[in-house]
Amino acid sequence: MERSEDSPLVSWSAPQCWFTIEYSPRVLDDIRLAVVDAFFSVPRGGVEIGGILLGDFQKKRLRITGYAPVECEHAFGPSFTLSDHDQERLAELLGRRSLPGRQAVGWYHSHTRSEIFFSDADLEIHRRFFPEPWQTALVLRPHTFQPTRAGFFFREAAPSLPPSPLSLLLPPPGSIRGEASYGEFALQPLPLRPGDMGEAVADAAPAPEPRRKAAVSDAVPQNPLSPGSGPAPESPASAESPRPETQGKGPRRRRKVLLAIGACLAAVFLAYGALDIVWLQADLKAQTERAKRAEKSLADARNELKIEREKSAARADTGK
Ligand SMILES: [Zn+2]
Repeated sequence: MERSEDSPLVSWSAPQCWFTIEYSPRVLDDIRLAVVDAFFSVPRGGVEIGGILLGDFQKKRLRITGYAPVECEHAFGPSFTLSDHDQERLAELLGRRSLPGRQAVGWYHSHTRSEIFFSDADLEIHRRFFPEPWQTALVLRPHTFQPTRAGFFFREAAPSLPPSPLSLLLPPPGSIRGEASYGEFALQPLPLRPGDMGEAVADAAPAPEPRRKAAVSDAVPQNPLSPGSGPAPESPASAESPRPETQGKGPRRRRKVLLAIGACLAAVFLAYGALDIVWLQADLKAQTERAKRAEKSLADARNELKIEREKSAARADTGK
């Protein structure tokens, strides 16, 4: 993966992929944030989300410069499994996206409970809605304490590959290796650019905020959007969107709060433990004192008894 100076796009390639994938790091970071938000939105694995990758394909270069979330009513649970209704909406969304330079170049979705692979259901979606040989899928896997990982899935072998003995060894043209992605990579959170805060204040553009919220909250099963809802908001081409500092920091902040609570509890336990030791020591001392006193009084009593016995013995002697 490399990043050229004159272009903000990051390039990805693999020997098995007959074209180069170039993506806007800002677009993938936006997708990553939405994926992570949905991952933390529900305990034990979160919700999986997905959408369309927008861009263009020219001269064996696939460029990802935007995305559009796809609503999923999660009729089959938290996984990104599209119901008939979801698929209808996806088809409708794809029909709207045939603008030059902004066509659907593939799709993305997250796997929160499984590794990065292409399931049979994923293959079915890919074949049905993304039939072009160059159309690509991106699967993202969020983690609690590690960076989100991602992998591209694509149809192997160039359509115009010259016949050779080697080609017999290659998978048939158009097949997708689904068990794992070639060249899986980690998506490190993108740092804020110097201009971002200024832009966010100056423009106060609300566009990215609802988009990110939609990507997450609509994915929750209890809140399916009506089919007549407006067109899915689209990400601006290349990272022009203002990024208020608070966005996407929910999990990190939550972790900080949890850590703080943990530290407080530990301090309380430690203080309690120290206090306990002091009490125990004091108690032990008091018990020792009591034992000594008891021993002494017992010895005194024995002495008195002895004296009494001696006295009575003497009296008996004199009485005889
Ligand atoms: Zn999948």
